[in-house]
Amino acid sequence: MSEKLKITESSCQDDFDQNSLTADEALERILAAISPLEETETVPIRRGLDRILAEDVYSRINVPNCINSAMDGYAVRGEDIPSDGIRQLLVIGTVFAGSPLTESIGPGACARIMTGGVLPAGTDTVVIQEHVERRDDHILIDNRTHKGDNVREAGEDVRMGEQILSRGARLTPAAIGLMASLGTAEVLVTRRPKVAFFSTGDELRSIGEELHDGQVYDSNRYTLYGMLQRLGIETIDMGVVRDDRAEVEQAFQDAAASADVVITSGGVSVGEADYVKETLAQLGTIDFWKIAIKPGRPLAFGMINNSYFFGLPGNPVSVMVTFYQFVQPALYRLMGSNFIEPVSTHAICLSRLGKRPGRVEYQRGIMSRDENGRLVVRKTGAQGSGILSSMSQANCFIILPMENTGGEAGMEVEIQPFHGLI
Ligand code: AMP
Ligand code: MG
Repeated sequence: MSEKLKITESSCQDDFDQNSLTADEALERILAAISPLEETETVPIRRGLDRILAEDVYSRINVPNCINSAMDGYAVRGEDIPSDGIRQLLVIGTVFAGSPLTESIGPGACARIMTGGVLPAGTDTVVIQEHVERRDDHILIDNRTHKGDNVREAGEDVRMGEQILSRGARLTPAAIGLMASLGTAEVLVTRRPKVAFFSTGDELRSIGEELHDGQVYDSNRYTLYGMLQRLGIETIDMGVVRDDRAEVEQAFQDAAASADVVITSGGVSVGEADYVKETLAQLGTIDFWKIAIKPGRPLAFGMINNSYFFGLPGNPVSVMVTFYQFVQPALYRLMGSNFIEPVSTHAICLSRLGKRPGRVEYQRGIMSRDENGRLVVRKTGAQGSGILSSMSQANCFIILPMENTGGEAGMEVEIQPFHGLI
C-alpha cells in the first residue's frame, strides 16, 4: 500500500495539483494490492458465460471429426477430374449430413453429397452441383474443380489436443459455443466475488420515498448494480447510510464481514463529514487519493479487515468513470483475469471542447459515421460530474489527455466506445 498523501484544501476547480496521482499510478497501486481469489467452482458451460476460466481448456477431439463437404454437389476422386474435356462418372449413392456412405468409391464413380456429409472412402474432392451436368445415373464434369476443393479437413477448426482457451480468459458466447463443439459439458471458473455497496449522504432518498427540496434520489446504487452485474459479480446492496457516525461505522463493519470488496459512494471529498474518514482510519488501512482525472478526482482505496475497499466520489458520473477506470480492472484481477484495457480509437470531434490542462478528462460523447463514412463524435451537452443524463445519452468517452486545452470543432480526439460485440 502507498504512503498516505496529505490532503490539501485545493478544490476541484484548480485543475493541476502536485499531490495528485495520475490514473496510471493509481491503477498500478490498486492492482499491486489485489491478490486473485483462489477458490474455483465447476459449472455447466452456459452458467460459465462471462465468468473467468480457472483452467486451460484442451480439445479431446478433432473438429470437424471427419473430412466433410463444404457444399452441395458430388464427392469424387481427385484423379478422376479431367485435365481437359469432359469426364463421365457413375453416381453410386447419396451422402447426407449425419449419414455416411458405407461403400467406398472406386475409379470412375462418385456420390451425391450434401453440405456437412462425410466424404466417402476413396474421395477427396467435391464438385459443386452447379458445375455438374446430371444424366440419369451419371454426371458429366469438366476441369473447373481441383483436387481437394470444397471440403473441410478433419481438425480444420480445432485439432485434438490443441489448447483452445486459456486460464484467465473471460468466457464469451463464442467460448461456450466452442466448448459445446468439443462436447465439453462443464468448466472450471473462479468463484464469483461478492461486492457489497452502499451510498452515503443525508440528502439521499430511495425510490418510493418522498423527495423534499434539496434531496436527491440515490442513483449510484443503480449504476453500480448495473456495472457489477455486467461483470458477473454477486452484489449485496446495503442501501443508503446517513451521515451518522454510528450508522457509518456499522455499515462498514457489516459490509466487510459479508463481502470480498466494499464499494461506497460519496463522503470522500474535501469538506465531507469527517467521520467517514475517521471511521475508515479506525477500521482499516485506507489511502485517500486525489487523482488527476475529471470527473472523479477523490478516491479512497485500501482494506477493511480482509475486504478491499473503494470509496468512490458521490457525483453520479464520477462514480461511473472511477468504476470503469479503477474498480473494474481490480475486479478482473480479483477474478483471476488478465485485464485487457478497453479499446480506444480516434474520431473527428464535431463539437468545440472546453478543457483546462492538468487532468485527463473523460467527456461524454456520441460517436457515429458521417456521410463520408468517417468516424465522428460530438459531446453530449453539459459535462458536469453530476449530470447522469450525459452518460445515458453517450455511447463513448472522449478522452482528453492531461495537457490538452480543448479546441474548436474538427480536431481529432481519442474515444473509448462503451460497447463491444462481446
Ligand atoms: P459527495 O461526494 O458526498 O460530496 O457528493 C457529491 C455530490 O454527489 C452531491 O451533490 C451528492 O448529492 C451527490 N450524490 C452523492 N451520492 C449520490 C447518490 N448515491 N446518488 C445520487 N447523487 C449522489
Ligand atoms: Mg455526501
